[in-house]
Amino acid sequence: MNDMTPMNPPHHLSEEDRHAAADGTLDPERARDVAAHLDECEPCATDVGRLRALMRHLDDAPPVARTADSLAAMWPEIRSRIEERKILPLAPSVAASDDVAAPGAVAG
Ligand SMILES: [Zn+2]
Repeated sequence: MNDMTPMNPPHHLSEEDRHAAADGTLDPERARDVAAHLDECEPCATDVGRLRALMRHLDDAPPVARTADSLAAMWPEIRSRIEERKILPLAPSVAASDDVAAPGAVAG
């Protein structure tokens, strides 16, 4: 009675497992199962390899830092454009706030 063929991996690794395998955060027991599966399953092994490469790439160039960098580089140009197009000086509307009488300030 062998309705389960041991040669075929029963199911592929979950995405969680593949991520953990890629960054090495699997617990030892699970890691053995995963390693065994990766040994026999090329698609999963390829995916883990890709995840590993991706993680190393992200480590090298954090996307957040890159964005901040390019924004800082662009900022002087943006500011000089604003200066060029400046027509009206922005003044705080003091008169407006003086005009609106606060209900509690009405003295009797
Ligand atoms: Zn697989």
